[in-house]
Amino acid sequence: MGFFNFNSKLRDFDKKAMDLSKPYFEKLEEVSQYNQQKVLSAFINNKISEAHLGISTGYGYGDIGRDTLDRVVADSFGAEDALIRHSFASGTHTLSVALFGILRPGDSVLSITGRPYDTIIGVFGIDEKIDGSLADFGVSYNQVDLLEDGTPDIEGIKKELKNKKYKMAYIQRSRGYSLRPSLSIEKIEELCKAVKSVSPDTVIMVDNCYGEFVEKTEPTQVGADLMAGSLIKNPGGGIAPCGGYIAGKKKYVEMCSYRMTCAGVGREVGATLGHNRELYMGFFSSPHVVCEALKTAIYSSALYCLLGFETSPRYNEARADIIQSIILKDSPALISFCKGLQSGSPIDSFVVPEPWEMPGYTDKVIMAAGAFTLGASIELSADAPLREPFAVWLQGGINFFSAKTGILLSAQSMIDDGIINI
Ligand SMILES: *Cc1c(COP(=O)(O)O)cnc(C)c1O
Repeated sequence: MGFFNFNSKLRDFDKKAMDLSKPYFEKLEEVSQYNQQKVLSAFINNKISEAHLGISTGYGYGDIGRDTLDRVVADSFGAEDALIRHSFASGTHTLSVALFGILRPGDSVLSITGRPYDTIIGVFGIDEKIDGSLADFGVSYNQVDLLEDGTPDIEGIKKELKNKKYKMAYIQRSRGYSLRPSLSIEKIEELCKAVKSVSPDTVIMVDNCYGEFVEKTEPTQVGADLMAGSLIKNPGGGIAPCGGYIAGKKKYVEMCSYRMTCAGVGREVGATLGHNRELYMGFFSSPHVVCEALKTAIYSSALYCLLGFETSPRYNEARADIIQSIILKDSPALISFCKGLQSGSPIDSFVVPEPWEMPGYTDKVIMAAGAFTLGASIELSADAPLREPFAVWLQGGINFFSAKTGILLSAQSMIDDGIINI
């Protein structure tokens, strides 16, 4: 590593962190190989050819690239049907289309994994009934809180479903920006069984953001009726420039397609404007890219454990998403970490991140992101609200060797700033 001036002791820590990580890397590679073969066989079975990579404009009628990619995604996720579109503006927009696609005035939805991710709060209208939220349309929301250890309260969920009729049960797979554990596929299966045992007609929907291809199966293969996610996270493979996907039971995907465009028209329209090739390439690369991101997460946990910090999950713990938190203990450490990480980005390495008042947050937030796609968190990136427990949430790394260099630069920055003494 002759291109960077790393402290010689930090180089020793790097070697030790690699040794600690290796057994876990082997397990990741086994999952990645399985998922890569699954995706490759979906390409082969759907006879993908150059014709699918073409461009449509206008209404986009008969875009075989678009329609066949829906099949590839459905087959890869073991779902009956899927919609994958560059025209979903974000993960939140995709989830919102799915929620409004299924829920009707008078319906109730029960979040069974506690309070949802920040941006979904407004979609449900949980804290205030903002215009255009589900609450504004007469859909009521309730939640069963997680237990103290951060796991779902299965007995509490069953009790609530016996108590009242719910059209939808809502699950969030990833930890988001909390320290609760992400939900394994096994846990999601247990939750689906619990819901259906009490209320078989309740639609189970999963926010699958950050979870795709982390395990060998997806929520739609273990009882979820519908799931959705973002293409600037796992399933875009770092190549899709924007977009989202929805996958699940045919009748629910069709309902979502009517919300996505209009009733009666659904998926028949939607020009792809030349994005088919990127979406195919990104989805194809996703199992490999997710493996690189998971290696980055495990390595950074191992390195920071060795440097004396608490990390969650630890490098030796099971994971169901690509997010890694590192508890850095105070504000100067968070700022120094993000500054170092940013300096190791392929894009905007010369930028110095600063804490700022972000809309919707009570505390200042500092972020490091030097990505090819703006805001893409499948690329190496970190976010940290300046508040207790002074943790940084790290995710992504489309290329492990580049990402680990970024992680080492974060540690070097903390050494230079006198925060880490080795
Ligand atoms: C990223 C994410 C979303 C959607 O966020 P966008 O920034 O709108 O793409 C929703 N839920 C979870 C758990 C997420 O991680």
